[in-house]
Amino acid sequence: MVEPRRPDTPASPIEKERRRFLASLGVLPLAVAVAQTPRPAQADTHKTQARIVIAGGGAAGLTAANRLASALDGARITVIDPKKEHWYQPGFTLVAAGIKPQNYTVSTTADYLPKGAELVAEKVAEIDPEGQKVVTESGQVIPYDYLIVALGLELNYAGIQGMNTARIGQNGMGSIYFGPQAASATYAAMSQFADQGGIGVFGRPAGEMKCAGAPLKYTFITDDHLRRRGNRGKAEIHYMAHAKSLFGVPIVSEKVRMLFDDRGVKVHQDHVMQAIDLDKRIATFSTPAGTHDQPYDFINVIPPMRAPEVVRNSPLPWTEGPFAADGWMEVDRETLRHKRYPNVFGVGDVAGVPKGKTAASVKWQVPVAVAHLIGDITGQPSKAVYNGYTSCPLITRLGQAMLIEFDYNNNLVMSFPGVIAPLEELWISWVMKTMALKPTYLSMLRGRA
Ligand SMILES: Cc1cc2nc3c(=O)[nH]c(=O)nc-3n(C[C@H](O)[C@H](O)[C@H](O)COP(=O)(O)OP(=O)(O)OC[C@H]3O[C@@H](n4cnc5c(N)ncnc54)[C@H](O)[C@@H]3O)c2cc1C
Repeated sequence: MVEPRRPDTPASPIEKERRRFLASLGVLPLAVAVAQTPRPAQADTHKTQARIVIAGGGAAGLTAANRLASALDGARITVIDPKKEHWYQPGFTLVAAGIKPQNYTVSTTADYLPKGAELVAEKVAEIDPEGQKVVTESGQVIPYDYLIVALGLELNYAGIQGMNTARIGQNGMGSIYFGPQAASATYAAMSQFADQGGIGVFGRPAGEMKCAGAPLKYTFITDDHLRRRGNRGKAEIHYMAHAKSLFGVPIVSEKVRMLFDDRGVKVHQDHVMQAIDLDKRIATFSTPAGTHDQPYDFINVIPPMRAPEVVRNSPLPWTEGPFAADGWMEVDRETLRHKRYPNVFGVGDVAGVPKGKTAASVKWQVPVAVAHLIGDITGQPSKAVYNGYTSCPLITRLGQAMLIEFDYNNNLVMSFPGVIAPLEELWISWVMKTMALKPTYLSMLRGRA
């Protein structure tokens, strides 16, 4: 198990690498000094004819393809994904905040494909780990020696009765998760609310979700827009928490509670959205005391999330425990290797591991899974371990954020001890979110970070 770095202990190699990676962006003055740390030597390439299939060509799939292509000579790498556009999803919050244009988040999947890898622009319709093959929607059978499942997750909007994604941006309903256009339409609806005031409703679904900080960020951002327009006094802000806490890491949850208190955000615990009446502007929540109908003038709908259907219908999900119901993949939390099918790995949002479900966790998961896969090919087993590292630049107002980094054990990890304190609202953390993260992310896709 790789221990997170504590200020009084020497940095582990993985910590040094993390700081070098963040610093290499060159946007933080101190980071420039850290960036001068020499780069580790490029790993040797290994000759192989292994057939490696990567199901899903989003953040995790493209990162895996590039890392494998540069480490292996002769491997037949096939990425399967029908989506032509690549979406930089962490940017959706910035589009919905009105500070980045919609196209800031859109690029092209094929542009990140490594030389020699094949892209099959189809949906994976079936995964057969016993037969070591996947089948595409058109019936193409693709056999593999190794499979990396990187299919992300499914936004289950149908899990909210009355919800209609075609109406995002209309009549006070926003939903930043649906895509770049939805994020932009959400800004238009939120902006109208910030001009007029009224009742704003925020919250998150029960169960696992990607970027659990995003619902909180958008609450803070809306509060700030109201204040900047002199309309905070005309608005109520309600945050519907799915449980008793506001965030999975207790100390962060408490900090957010204090900030919400300070900003006048009213928190409702144990409220899970079940239905919405888009015409009457009423959202219905289940609570321990029964249902609660909450009128709104603006709402940010975040749907329940689960593993993609093709994974749920395969033998790959957990069969018991907290990750079974929504079909998350049964992988070892330290190696990302499937527990029953050792030549199958699960990375990114689809992985049934605690924490994670961020691009930042993709950054630390994929190299570990790739190292183990290469270890299988070369016969030299890898000792690489993923310790649950996740980070979230939690925007608390326009111009400030808290850079929160943590691991499986809820330890707060610090990439810049003494410079960026995790629970402080800082301009420098805002700069990271708004300027540094996208180039870092794109570099990750290309296997260079
Ligand atoms: C609003 C929002 C804000 C976020 N903010 C942050 C943040 O601040 N920091 C952070 O680190 N992370 C953030 N994230 C999370 C981050 O974007 C995801 O965790 C990351 O993209 C996960 O990568 P992935 O490869 O697992 O999934 P994705 O990048 O979603 O890729 C999954 C791919 O699988 C493909 N696919 C799905 N089904 C099939 C199929 N049947 N066949 C073939 N292909 C298929 C899809 O087309 C897609 O290309 C945010 C996400 C959102 C939505």
